[in-house]
Amino acid sequence: MKKLLVINAGSSSMKFKLFKKEKLKIIAEGLAERLFIDGKFTMKYNKKKYTIEEKLNSHDDAIKLLIKQLKENNILNSLEEIEGIGHRVVQGGEYFKKSTLINQNVLKKIEELSKLAPLHNPGAVSVIKSFLKLTPNIKNVAVFDTSYHTTISKENYIYAVPKKWYEKYSVRKYGAHGTSHKYMVEMVQKILNKNSVNIISCHLGNGASITAIKNNKSINTSMGLTPLAGLIMGTRSGNIDPSIIGYIAKETGKNVYEITNILNKKSGVLGLSKISSDFRDLENEALKGNKDAIFTIDVYCKKVVDFIVKYQNELENKIDAIVFTAGIGENSSTIRKNIIKNIHTIKTKINEKINDKKHKEEYTKISTNDSKIPIYIIKTNEELMILRDLIKVANL
Ligand code: AMP
Repeated sequence: MKKLLVINAGSSSMKFKLFKKEKLKIIAEGLAERLFIDGKFTMKYNKKKYTIEEKLNSHDDAIKLLIKQLKENNILNSLEEIEGIGHRVVQGGEYFKKSTLINQNVLKKIEELSKLAPLHNPGAVSVIKSFLKLTPNIKNVAVFDTSYHTTISKENYIYAVPKKWYEKYSVRKYGAHGTSHKYMVEMVQKILNKNSVNIISCHLGNGASITAIKNNKSINTSMGLTPLAGLIMGTRSGNIDPSIIGYIAKETGKNVYEITNILNKKSGVLGLSKISSDFRDLENEALKGNKDAIFTIDVYCKKVVDFIVKYQNELENKIDAIVFTAGIGENSSTIRKNIIKNIHTIKTKINEKINDKKHKEEYTKISTNDSKIPIYIIKTNEELMILRDLIKVANL
């Protein structure tokens, strides 16, 4: 039985999903995490779930453990059964406008782009290198988060900094979550039965971004050179005044890298609330009347509204749908309600009864029929997009 593997490698983690090629059915999925720290491996298959705690000193260790577990559980007899591997790569820079079959030259470019995505690309590079070494015959395809955003105009991607920073150092907006936003386009096309759609797509997960989509194409997005920009996130600050970095360096004696690390890992709703980066914890605290939690949620939602209103204007107020996706967008009725109620430039109306329900469906309309613009929750499926690109690009 032929199989296909999708890998999403982070700096200290590696998510995987193994599919049966036939009907693209998931056979096994899981996560290797806490790499370089202690190591934890979780796998789900056949309605079973188990965890192994074992030292994982590299992505290579995680891959070896994954293969060992697949074999021991008779999910895989040999690596030869895997026909292709699709890799999520965050930064494709200006090189990759589409998903690409990986060869040494492509790998070199992804590695070179690590300088623009130091928290993201190196994980993917390690995983790709390990697989190329282990199984040189398997086709590997890179699916870039940035590719979907390569249609953004220069007007929207350029920063007002010395021109040389763009020309020599490639400083510009690249965006991220492109695979998820592109999936939103396909879903809205299907839902509305329209070939060409204009959407404001809100991907609100631990990382969060909003994209303005015109005629199916990304025309602007909230993330920037890196995923640190734009909205407030679980631990990322989103947009701040850049001079804060120099000021805090001077006041605390921390260097630029330490401060950037704080902006990535200790800011966002975690930093502001001092409670948690997870919205479930924040919402529980808010229900108990915790003022810090209530305030943080309100500030978070306000930034989302700011982007929606800005993108409404960029789309010349011609919007077919506003969509919510990812962990918070799909699951938090409170956040969705807070956001929608605070948009005053569009006559949106939420159906609270539907909004408050748990949503298991692929998509749900949560606006009333007299809302000026329909609002949907759509379950994102980045793995499916990666899988489809793997099959197409590797010709499987
Ligand atoms: P993601 O990055 O898309 O996996 O989203 C993860 C985030 O979604 C978590 O950190 C939570 O903040 C949020 N989340 C997941 N489930 C819920 C829920 N039921 N209610 C509120 N937030 C949730």
